[in-house]
Amino acid sequence: MTPVAPPASHGFATLTIDLGALAENWRRLRDLSQPAECAAVVKANGYGLGAAPVVTALAKAGCKTFFVAHVSEGVIARAALGKTGGRIFVLNGLLPEADTVAAMVEHQLQPVLGSFDEMNFWATQAGGAASALPFALQFSTGMNRLGLAPQEAGAAAQWLADHPQAPAAYVMSHFASSEEADDPLNAQQIEAFAAIRAQFPGLPATLANSSGIFLPRKPVCDLVRPGIALYGGNPTPGMANPMRRVVSLTARMIQLRDVMPGETVGYNATWTAKRASKIAILGIGYADGLPRAATNSDTKQGARFALGGRLYPVAGRVSMDLTALDVTDAPAALVYPGARVEVLGETISVDDLATMAGTISYEILTSLGRRYERVYVGIGP
Ligand SMILES: *Cc1c(COP(=O)(O)O)cnc(C)c1O
Repeated sequence: MTPVAPPASHGFATLTIDLGALAENWRRLRDLSQPAECAAVVKANGYGLGAAPVVTALAKAGCKTFFVAHVSEGVIARAALGKTGGRIFVLNGLLPEADTVAAMVEHQLQPVLGSFDEMNFWATQAGGAASALPFALQFSTGMNRLGLAPQEAGAAAQWLADHPQAPAAYVMSHFASSEEADDPLNAQQIEAFAAIRAQFPGLPATLANSSGIFLPRKPVCDLVRPGIALYGGNPTPGMANPMRRVVSLTARMIQLRDVMPGETVGYNATWTAKRASKIAILGIGYADGLPRAATNSDTKQGARFALGGRLYPVAGRVSMDLTALDVTDAPAALVYPGARVEVLGETISVDDLATMAGTISYEILTSLGRRYERVYVGIGP
C-alpha cells in the first residue's frame, strides 16, 4: 500500500503570527517605560498565540520577567526559558495544596499572593526551601478582584518583617480601567497605590498593564506588565494604535452559491437575500473562535471580512465550522473556491473584529482556535 502523505497545507483557515512584530512591540513598550523594567504577560497561552514561541521570541528580545495565570502555564513558560532564564510570576496565586507549592518551587515559579491565608501557606510550605523564590504581594486598589485591601498594608509589612524566610519581590496592584485615560478611577488607584508603597520602603513596585503605560501620569513604577499591546491590541482606544500588528487570519472559500431574492442563508434563516446574491462559504466558525456574535442577520449588524482591502458582510449565523459571506459586490477575480478572505489583517484589526462582534480584543485573541494552520514568521536567526 502506498502511504498517502498529507498535503503541506490543508487548512481551511490560516493564522499567521509575526514574532518579529511581537518583539518590536515589546521593545517599544520597554523604551516607553524606561527606566522601569518591561515584563511580558503571557497568560492564556500567550493570549492565544502560543506560549512557547511567544516566550522564546520575547526572551530573545531581552525580556526577563513573565507573568502567567496558572501554574500549568508557568511550567510551559519555564520549559521555554530553561531553568535560570528569567522570572515567572503566577498571577492567580495559590490554592492551599502542598503539591501546588511543590510544583512552583520545582519549576521556579513565583506566586502573586493577595491574602494572609495564601501568604501563610506559602511561608509554611515553601519558606526556607533553597529554591523558593520571592513572591509578589498584591493589593486591590479599586478592582476588588485579587489582592489585600489597602488598609491591610500595615499588617502585611509586619508580616514580611516576621517571615524573613518568605520574602516579597514586588508590591503590586492592577488597574480597572486604564484604557479609559480620563476615568477618575485611574487617579484614585495611582494615589491608593502610592500610599500602600510608602509602607514598603525599598520594595520594588509594579502597577501598569498595557494601557497603564500610556496614561498621562506614566505610572510605570519599577516594572510594567503589558499583555494585549504586545500582541497588537490597541492600548489607547479611540486613538491611533501605537503597536504593530502581530496576528493575521485568513479563511478560505470552499464553495460559492447564488441565492435568489427572498431566499435565506444559514441556521434559523436569520438573513434574507434582498437581491440576487453571491455567497461564499468560508471554512471558519465559532469552533475556531470566531464569535457567534459576528452573525449578521436581517435585524442585527454583525462582522465584515475583507477581500482586496474592501469589506463584505457576513450573511446569517456563524456556524460551528462554516460562515457565509455576502460577496455579491466583490470583483469576480477575487471570488473562487480556495480564495482567501481576511478575517484579521491589514484591513481588519483585532480591535475592529472585536467591535463588530460586540466583544474586546482580548477575547478575540484568547479564543483563537486550535485547528488553524498556524504559521510563525519574523523569527530572527
Ligand atoms: C492580564 C493582566 C495584565 C496585562 O493586562 P493587559 O491589559 O493585557 O496589558 C497585567 N496585570 C495583571 C494583574 C493582569 O491580570
